[in-house]
This record gives sequence, structure tokens and C-alpha cells, in this order.
Amino acid sequence: MPTASPGEPSHITGRNVDLSNCDKEQIQFCGAIQPHGLLIAAQESDLMVRHISANAEALLGLSPDELLGRPLDRLFDADQLQRFRQEVARQRNLTCPPVHIMTARFGGRLGDAHVFVHRHDGLLIVEFESQGQNDPVSLHDLYSEVRTSIAELQATDSVQAFFDLAVSRIRRFTGYDRVLAYKFLEDGSGWVLAEDREPDLESYVGLHYPASDVPEPARRLFSKKWISHLPDVGYESVPLLQMKRADEYPLDLSYAFLRSVSVMYTGYLKNMGVQSTMVLTLLRQGKLWGLISCMHHRSPKHVPYQVRMAAEFLAHLMSLAMTSKEELEERDAVNRMKSLQSTLMEYMLRHVNFQEGLLRYDVNLLSYFGATGAVVLVDGHVHKLGDTPEDGALQDLFSWLTETMGQDQFATDCLSSVYPPGTAFQGKAAGMLVLRLFIHKPHFIVWFRPEVEHTVQWAGDPRKPVDVSRVNGEDRLLPRSSFALWKESVRGCSRPWKDSELAAAVDLRRAIVDVVLRKAEELARANEELDAFSYIASHDLKEPLRGIHNYARFVLEDYGEKLDAEGKAKLYTMLSLTQRMDTLLDSLLYYSRIGRQNLETQPTDLLPLVKRVVESLAPRLNEVRATVRLPDALPVVWANPVLLEEVIANLITNAMKYNDKPDKWVEIGTMTDAGRSAQAAEALAKGCAIMYVKDNGIGIPENRFDQIFLIFRRLHARDAYGGGTGVGLTIAKKIVERHGGQIWVESEPGVGSVFYLAFPSSDT
Ligand code: ADP
Repeated sequence: MPTASPGEPSHITGRNVDLSNCDKEQIQFCGAIQPHGLLIAAQESDLMVRHISANAEALLGLSPDELLGRPLDRLFDADQLQRFRQEVARQRNLTCPPVHIMTARFGGRLGDAHVFVHRHDGLLIVEFESQGQNDPVSLHDLYSEVRTSIAELQATDSVQAFFDLAVSRIRRFTGYDRVLAYKFLEDGSGWVLAEDREPDLESYVGLHYPASDVPEPARRLFSKKWISHLPDVGYESVPLLQMKRADEYPLDLSYAFLRSVSVMYTGYLKNMGVQSTMVLTLLRQGKLWGLISCMHHRSPKHVPYQVRMAAEFLAHLMSLAMTSKEELEERDAVNRMKSLQSTLMEYMLRHVNFQEGLLRYDVNLLSYFGATGAVVLVDGHVHKLGDTPEDGALQDLFSWLTETMGQDQFATDCLSSVYPPGTAFQGKAAGMLVLRLFIHKPHFIVWFRPEVEHTVQWAGDPRKPVDVSRVNGEDRLLPRSSFALWKESVRGCSRPWKDSELAAAVDLRRAIVDVVLRKAEELARANEELDAFSYIASHDLKEPLRGIHNYARFVLEDYGEKLDAEGKAKLYTMLSLTQRMDTLLDSLLYYSRIGRQNLETQPTDLLPLVKRVVESLAPRLNEVRATVRLPDALPVVWANPVLLEEVIANLITNAMKYNDKPDKWVEIGTMTDAGRSAQAAEALAKGCAIMYVKDNGIGIPENRFDQIFLIFRRLHARDAYGGGTGVGLTIAKKIVERHGGQIWVESEPGVGSVFYLAFPSSDT
């Protein structure tokens, strides 16, 4: 990136060269300066000159030897020396950056010059810079320019607007051809987020740069120094001369304005057609956030000291303002997520199943985090929103999550690196944020983010950060020779999940668990009420029903002679209807009794129990010529054997009843591997044993799986398949659930059905 200044040495040789070599460089000890000023390092105690730049002769007309090892009074006259001493004494903090302490007139070409000083290691590093005739600056104009810019910047309403304005204002008062704002991303790479430029220049906005473009030493210096100025990219560096003493060591130029930069950096700039630059540092909470980079293409450009100071001042203020703007935007995003959460909470409470509240409305799970796809898995059912992987891929992903995810939350911006099959769908789902709602149940909420723009714009090839050429038989590191737009896919990665988003997801999970618990409580209460109601209703209704039945019979017996055939038929229908109603009331009564009665459980071996049931059903099984296939063993579970016999009898009876095949069979067995069944996985994870009752009957359409367990619900005409009340499976479900178990069905119309029963295993 054009803002780097990797420092000396002028080239690095060796086999494995890239810009990371710059990371190891001690760039502050480059031993040279830029030629537009003079640098002297003097001992603070007696102002004896220890280092001096070799251009002393050219600028001052004094040879370095006349100055080295002598006090500064060879350079300053008595009056200037006194002012110098006073100012140095007055400035308490002279460590960094250099402080402008005076303007004075010197002999030679230096003439009227600004004098800057900073202190380092017992030395005063003094830099002289000619005032220059062609850049008169009106301080008044500058002040009002900066003041207006600050007011305007404060009024912007987003970070983007802030930078768009900042670059244009900085360009206006510095006069550079191009000013751009550059932000460092988490992975160290950077991108140009705003730019103001001469209309005929090519735009760099949106370009990404590899992390190696601003090597670590340069970053370290940028975070300490607010401004770096390179008036003439084509300069010839001036060496620093030092006293010929054994204890003399190279001068640390970390903070010197005039420090020379690396030829890699200048070469890099030349390739871009840049002749002068100025770089301002942007910090957030003391850390390097980004840079404002000013470039001049037409000619070298010396920015007067006052303008540089104004720019530096503005960079300080921008760092502060930008930090508060960013924090404000983050806070806004957090508030938005909070208000979304309360809307979703309201929706969830409206529905029996919380997931409907998360999915059905315009404001839904997808409104969170700018995700492009979301999936909810509850009770083995997958509900999808937006762009998600296919069903099969989702099932596999959920099985993997069920097995491996022990915590409530999991997030990755590179799914395929932890789950290789994810490579197949990374276009849609390269990043994933998962909430596991309950540890013992495979209930998940998942958000997906696609692969980061398939084509991020890179200004260089990130895999090949620098060109290496052979010069004089050596491998030489040269700056990138071309800035042609390079498109690079950031394969397999999505935009990362922010901390605030992860925190919002945790909050949402808490809200959902809250809703589910609240609903479970409500349901338990409603069930209790229903049991009480069913008992009272069935009990109280039986009496008048018996009356109706008896009176119909009396009418038939006493007045039968007087009625015609149609009248008698109607009375017979009435009798059969009252009988049916009596049966229904009995079922209801029984249903309510199961809900209320004490459940005495014991370890129950299912095999002898099933055998007893089959024996009791033998006559009926023979009648319809159905065979029962039994296994050698079945699990031992905690159950009430009498109630369990009833459940199994009901399932075997249904298996015979809803079967139109000439060779009917019923198979009973144990399920040990959950396979793709989320319900089975959940039951096994809870320590349940699962048995199944399978038939080759008529089957059940998938959209009716839930209905068959509802009371009085049949899928057929009242008398079809031998008739029935539609209560059997409702009672079976109630019995199983009272045991803390589960019952569910899988079926294919025309092929057959499998009913699964999960009961707490007696081993656990
Ligand atoms: P009933 O058998 O009295 O109608 P159930 O509650 O036992 O009531 O069953 C409810 C409905 O579920 C039945 O009416 C039938 O449509 C369907 N069903 C139950 N078991 C099976 C099965 N093994 N195969 C196909 N359908 C079935």
C-alpha cells in the first residue's frame, strides 16, 4: 500500500525474500535523512554535537568536521543559543513527536528556518527546515479552514460520510492530488474506504491491500507518530555522520521528521506515479485504526510546517471523533438488535410453537446480523429462511452439530475449515452462527453468511506480495511493479461475526428458552385443566346420555308398533349414536384418568411384555393372517408394565387394522443408531431406549404425522378400516409422555409405517 515506509537497508538479499523481511528490520537506525533539512544530535548536558547530516556544508557553509564534537554555538549566535536553551528548558515533554521551538536565520542556503527538537537517550535531536519562499501560509486562513472542517465533520451522520468529508477537506487545505482514507481490517489487510482526487486520476476506492504492504515496523512507527512527510519521492538520501568514538552508536531516528525511508517504499510510490506523500495516523483507543494518505502525482510537494501541524491536529481530532462515531454506530446496531429481539419475543408468545414467531413475519431471524440464510431445527423438523444449503446437507450438518457441539453457541467465519463437507455449499454458507437451545435436545438456530464477495478487489496479489528480481546475480526485493487491479477470492470465508452480534445471539437464546419454559408451564397448566374438565364433562354427560338412550329404547319397545319403518330406523340410529357417544365419553374419562393417576414404574423388560401382548392378540392376528416378527431381545426400560402393554397392543392392532396387503406383517425391534433422525438422536442423547413397531400397511402422509396423535382424529371415514374412535394414539402418547418418553412416526403411504417409542432406559 502506498502508505508504507519499510525503511532502510536499501535492499534485502537472500533466497526467501518478501516484505515480511521488513518486519525484522530496525528501520529507525537507517543512518540517513531526506535532503530538505539538516539534522544534528547534540548531548543535552553541554550541547556538544555528536551526529550531523552530511549536507551541513551545502546548507550552512560549515564542514561537518567543524561542528562534530563541538558545542552548538558554532551554529547558533549567542542570542539564538540563549533562546534555544530557554525553549528546551521550557518544553517539558520533548520525547515525541518533535516540537517546533523557534524560527531563526542561519547562514548559507538554510536561511530562515524552523527548528524542531525532540529528546532521545540523553541527546537532543535538532532538525532544521528552511522556511521556503514559495509557500507563504496565512495562519488565519488555515485556522478558519480547520475550524469549519471540524464543525462539518461533527455534523456527519455515519462513519462513511465522516471519511468522505474528511478526505475532501484535507485535500482542500493541503493541495494534494489525491487523499485517501485507509482502514486496517482484523486480518491485517487494509482497504480504501474513502478518497478525494483530481478527476483524471484512477480511483483506488474499495481496493484491498495485503497485510504485507504495511510491514510491522512501519505500523509500530505509525502508531507512535501522527504524521510522516516525504516531500520528494525521488530524493537522494543524506548520510548521518557521527563522532569517531568507540562508544558512539547509530542514532535512533524513530521520531525524526527527516528520517530517510526505504528504497522499497520510494520505488513502490514511483511505480504508482507518486512524487510526494504525507501520511496521517488514525488511532482508536491507542491502536492503529487506519491512515489518511495524501499523494501528489504532478511534482514533488513540500507541505509547509504550519499546514502539517494543522493536518496533524485534524488527524488527532478525527481519531477522537471517528472513535465516538464508530461507537455510536455500534451502539445503534446493538439497540436495533435489542428492539428486534423484543419484537420476535412478542411474535413467539403469539404462537403455540415458538419457531413460528421466529419465521412467519417480515421481521424474522434473517433481520438479525445481515445473514442471508437461517434455519431452525425443532423436534426433527427443519424450517428454512432465505438462502440455505440443501436439505440433505443440512441434515448432515445438524448430525455433526448434535454430536460435537457441547456449548450453547458456536460461530465460525470459515465453516469448511472445521467441517470439510461445508466446502460444497460455501457460496451460500461460508460462515455460520449456531445457537443450541437445549443441551439435551438437538434444537438449533443457525444463521448463514455467504463467502465474502467472491471477488474482493485486491490492489496486489496477496499470495505474492512483492516481486523479486535478479540484479547483479542477487535476488533483490523490489517493490510491486504494477498496481493493476487484482481480483482474488477469499475462498471459504464469510464476513466475521462481531462480538456485539455474538452477544445479541446469546440474548436471543435466553429469550427463546424463556418463552419455551413459559409455554411449557402454560401447557402443563392447560393439560391439568383439560384433565379435570374431561373428567367432569364425561362423568356428568354420561347421566343424561343414559336417559336419552333409555327413552329411545322405551319408545321403540312401547310404541314400536305404531311407527313406520323409517321412524323405527331413525330410533335405531339414535340408539347407536348414543352408544358411540358413550364409548367416546369412556375414552375421554380414561384419558383424563391417565393424566391424573399415579404412575408406578419399575424396570420392565420389553421382550416378555411384547410377547404377552402378542399372545393376547393371537386370535385377531390369525383372523387377518398377520405375522409378527419378534427380535431375540428388547431393552429394559423404566415403565408401568400395564400401561405399556396397552400402548403396544394399540400399535399392533393399528398395524393390522390399517393394512390392505394380503400378507400382513408387523415387526418389532430396537433402534440403536439415530441415523438421520433428529428425534432419535435427541432421545438417545437423553439416555432413552428406543423400540419400534413397523408394518407393511397403508402408510400415513407426512403432513398428517402430527394429526394422528390428536384426540378423536381419524384419517378415514368413521367406519372405514374397522372403525375406531381416534383415541388410541392420543392415549398412547399421553402414556409415553407421562413416562418422560416420546412417540413419533415415520411412514410412506402405500409402503408402511414405523412407530417409535422412546422410554428412559433402566441402565441410566
Ligand atoms: P383409531 O384407530 O381408533 O382411529 P388411533 O388414535 O389409534 O385411532 O389412530 C388415529 C388414526 O391414525 C387412525 O384413524 C389411522 O388413520 C391412523 N393410523 C394409526 N395407526 C396407523 C398405521 N399403523 N398405519 C396407518 N395409519 C394408521
